[in-house]
Amino acid sequence: MAFVWRTRSPGETEEFGRLLASILLPGDVLCLYGDLGAGKTVLARGIARGLGITRPVTSPTFTLINEYSGRLPLYHMDVYRLGGSGEMADLGYEEYFYGEGVTVLEWAGRVEEVLPSERLDIYFKGFQGEPDLREIHIIPRGRRYEELVKELTALVGAGY
Ligand code: ADP
Ligand code: MG
Repeated sequence: MAFVWRTRSPGETEEFGRLLASILLPGDVLCLYGDLGAGKTVLARGIARGLGITRPVTSPTFTLINEYSGRLPLYHMDVYRLGGSGEMADLGYEEYFYGEGVTVLEWAGRVEEVLPSERLDIYFKGFQGEPDLREIHIIPRGRRYEELVKELTALVGAGY
């Protein structure tokens, strides 16, 4: 069951991230897909806030990974500049994906081969002529994430 949420401002996207954070569990992996400027980092910031992280959350485009400690550890990764899945090993990604924190991975499509088969896929869609409108499509992969989407639906309603 997919879930679609529409937002009309960065603030709304961040707020959605906060709500999502409230139902995250240790080991959850969230994979973000969408073009530059789609809103991936804005959502990651909202998730961080929802986990009680107050430090500034900036794009890890150059650092590749930023770690934060909140209600759960947050591993915020951005693999835009990575050559591909092969370079993921150097990052020690397994420690993050299969660890006790929450992983939020921007540009997940670039490292498809190493993504865990169970994960939450989050796609961002923009609209021509509507600069502030985004559709966030959430697709659960695996039992844990089906459960998460059910909880999300209970929390915020059916979507939109
Ligand atoms: P990405 O990480 O996907 O490259 P960012 O989150 O860094 O993108 O940037 C998203 C940009 O789009 C920001 O400049 C933000 O202000 C703008 N924006 C406009 N409308 C929205 C929206 N509804 N949700 C998220 N960002 C939005
Ligand atoms: Mg980004």
